[in-house]
Amino acid sequence: MSEETIVKASADQVLRAAERMVDLPWPEPGSDASLTWELEGLEGETLWLTHVLPLASGATPAEITALTAPLLDLADRRWGTRHRFDATRFTDDASTPPGDYDRRSAPAGLVRSLGATSAVWWRRGAYAALLVDSSRTAPADTKLALLVLERDWLGPPGAEERALESPLVQDLLSGEPSRVLSATWTVIGTRDPELLAPLVTALPAIRSATAGLDLGGALIQNATHVRHALTRLQLVADGECLCTAYPDHLLHDVAREQQRGHVRVEGTVPNERQWEPDRICVCTACGRRYQVEQGEYHYPWWQWRPLAGRSGAPAAQTPPT
Ligand SMILES: [Zn+2]
Repeated sequence: MSEETIVKASADQVLRAAERMVDLPWPEPGSDASLTWELEGLEGETLWLTHVLPLASGATPAEITALTAPLLDLADRRWGTRHRFDATRFTDDASTPPGDYDRRSAPAGLVRSLGATSAVWWRRGAYAALLVDSSRTAPADTKLALLVLERDWLGPPGAEERALESPLVQDLLSGEPSRVLSATWTVIGTRDPELLAPLVTALPAIRSATAGLDLGGALIQNATHVRHALTRLQLVADGECLCTAYPDHLLHDVAREQQRGHVRVEGTVPNERQWEPDRICVCTACGRRYQVEQGEYHYPWWQWRPLAGRSGAPAAQTPPT
């Protein structure tokens, strides 16, 4: 285990250094020499592939988080969409025939050599700023570094990078409660595969961006709606019909779902506890049947219960009493 070092620098200082790193000179082509430099009071070095700003080594995961949390937040705000680079996917090496070599293997090897399996990055023009944090994968020997390298090393824009350009995805990643909630209600109300596809691709990023977000909410915590939207996206990812999400949430209005063409009401069953009789709904996509009780407690709610003989539905949420 290496000796503990951690930079004493503000998030703003680190970002300003990274923004200036793109102007640093590169070593002579073919040279193994590294160049050292100092920017914004921070010391780093340049290797043939990348400029490296070491931020911590051997620090505790908690110390790393204290450094990365404001850094991620500020980078998202200043640099925009945060991408994810999976370093386990690109493992070509010197034994790979040159024609087959995937250039992403070079940064991937560097990320793995720091003890991490993935990294997050932001686009900075023709460059990428990549933050490598091994505190989860190697908690006993942590490394944290910010790399600035040519964007091309991360390959052509992939499905994930394109997905992150979707306005709905950007809303969900924004960290702004009003945008997150507006996108959440869109996700809760739609079955449109074109809208949902980029969201499913970006699901890991959306999960981490919405975790722990303080969204408020009066009668129902708004976080409940976000959780339900994530459940729906997971169902799409798993190839399940979205009707199986109904029992998980109490605000799926039968009339509205019928109007959207998602279900057909094919009968009613008297319910002595409620003003409205229960309705028997059939999913127009998969034919699953549900009995839906409608009640009112400060707000109208609908409890969807799958009818016998059907499986695969998530556990029912308890209606308010
Ligand atoms: Zn269905």
